[in-house]
Amino acid sequence: MARHLVTSALPYINGIKHLGNLVGSMLPADVYARYLRQRGHEVLFICATDEHGTPAELAAQEAGLPVAEFCARAHERQRGIYRGYELSFDHFGRSSSPQNRETTQEIARELHRNGFVEQRSVRQVYSTADRRFLPDRYIVGTCPYCGYDRARGDQCENCTRVLDPTDLLDARSAISGSADLEVRDTEHLFLLQSRLTGEVEAWLADRADRWPVLASSIARKWLAEGLQDRSITRDLTWGVPVPADTWPELAAAGKVFYVWFDAPIEYIGATREWADAAEGRDWRSWWYEADETVRYTQFMAKDNVPFHTVMFPATLLGSRRPWKKVDHVKAFNWLTYYGGKFSTSLRRGVFTDDALELLPADYWRWFLMANAPESDDASFGWELFATVVNKDLADTLGNFVNRVLSFGHRRFGDRVPAGQTAGEAEQRLGREAAALLAGYESALDALDFRKAARALRALWSAGNAYLDERAPWQQVKADPAAAELTLRTAMNLIHLYAVVSEPFVPAAARAMRGAFDLPADPVRWVDAERAAALDTVPAGTPFRVPPVLFAKVTDEQTEEWTARFGGR
Ligand SMILES: [Zn+2]
Repeated sequence: MARHLVTSALPYINGIKHLGNLVGSMLPADVYARYLRQRGHEVLFICATDEHGTPAELAAQEAGLPVAEFCARAHERQRGIYRGYELSFDHFGRSSSPQNRETTQEIARELHRNGFVEQRSVRQVYSTADRRFLPDRYIVGTCPYCGYDRARGDQCENCTRVLDPTDLLDARSAISGSADLEVRDTEHLFLLQSRLTGEVEAWLADRADRWPVLASSIARKWLAEGLQDRSITRDLTWGVPVPADTWPELAAAGKVFYVWFDAPIEYIGATREWADAAEGRDWRSWWYEADETVRYTQFMAKDNVPFHTVMFPATLLGSRRPWKKVDHVKAFNWLTYYGGKFSTSLRRGVFTDDALELLPADYWRWFLMANAPESDDASFGWELFATVVNKDLADTLGNFVNRVLSFGHRRFGDRVPAGQTAGEAEQRLGREAAALLAGYESALDALDFRKAARALRALWSAGNAYLDERAPWQQVKADPAAAELTLRTAMNLIHLYAVVSEPFVPAAARAMRGAFDLPADPVRWVDAERAAALDTVPAGTPFRVPPVLFAKVTDEQTEEWTARFGGR
């Protein structure tokens, strides 16, 4: 048994996330964590809100709240939504925690001691009206190349040219609109990543071959361009302060670490938060001098890959301390909304809070994972959503469960019938179930989620095919004992579904398990032999008919939702 550390990229504190954010990191991490736990591994599944930086400060200002208060509320809001999706985090932390502050400062000190941090003077745009330095993208003006008048200081959205804020004509603050801007000198810390390029290369060479190609190709491409030294501090009030014992002048000037420096360190910080929350938890055994039984898997969208596979490892390597580094990286492409971007401001696309008000979590979990943007971008559309939900969940899984249990109940009462001993058809079904289960397991082990979903769907379909072939509603007339065998076998299949479907559809799995009154249902996972035997639920076990597992999505609903959330 291995010990599995699983982390999902941290959702930014500001705003409710959309379905693409969910399927690009947190949801697949949850499916994997649940699967590993069921297989008997020790799992620590960590996530947190990423809370620092200018967008949080500005959102707080807009909400009329102190930024700490704003973040505390936004964190609770996101946490509640993720609970709604049954994301089984062992800890959902906050990058603004004291634990992360301490860890971030300690790593920065170590990087400094090892000669990887340098203080440099840079010229930055200061807004007198806003009384702050402006990040490049908070400066707007007219593009000198195409004349677009809302170009940002880092890039022109219209002609896509990369810009420097000083290139802009009629530059003004995106916050206040003030044109009272000046370029000032300011001191910042730089992480000398250029000196760590070789080490990161060597570290990556060892493991990237084992990663899915999306992650390894992005990491290699980024590294091939060479690592640039990178500013790791900002002139903000909200962030991890630069420690005064190491940089007294910068600390006195109120510098904080750049959000991208402290955010990945929060994986460690959040694990320390988890450890501090209860007795007997040891964060070090996961992160510091961890032995080779610890296997660390990260989940993220593709834009996060460089930070996780190159920059964060550079930070940890430069600390010269035995921090655990990632073993396996699973990256995702984009989920689009009808081929375009989800947008809060344009009210386009369905966001995680609204989705849960329309339908329970299992519908979204299944649709998103079965159509996860793994090898390519995937597009969300209501017609496709309705088709997948209706076919897979309502017709294939839900209908099978309901048919078997209602018919069994009507004809044979509230205990699993006995009937004949298993025959050729049951043995064939058992062999098929064991083979499909093996495919499902190897797909999940390889983090190949669409393939895993296909295998699970095939396992559900096998039940319907068996039922149609045996036709117990016919058998019962001529040979009731044969009908009993069919139903007992089908009921065992339902129990198998309950166990192995849990990573994808945990609520339906609970309902299926709950249908059978097994004495302290001991089954965590089903091995091949057990799957082939289909005998976990013995004859005589009391059962009940659960409510219909999945309702069909109607045409009226898809029309209403298309109108409400945009589309086409
Ligand atoms: Zn332009």
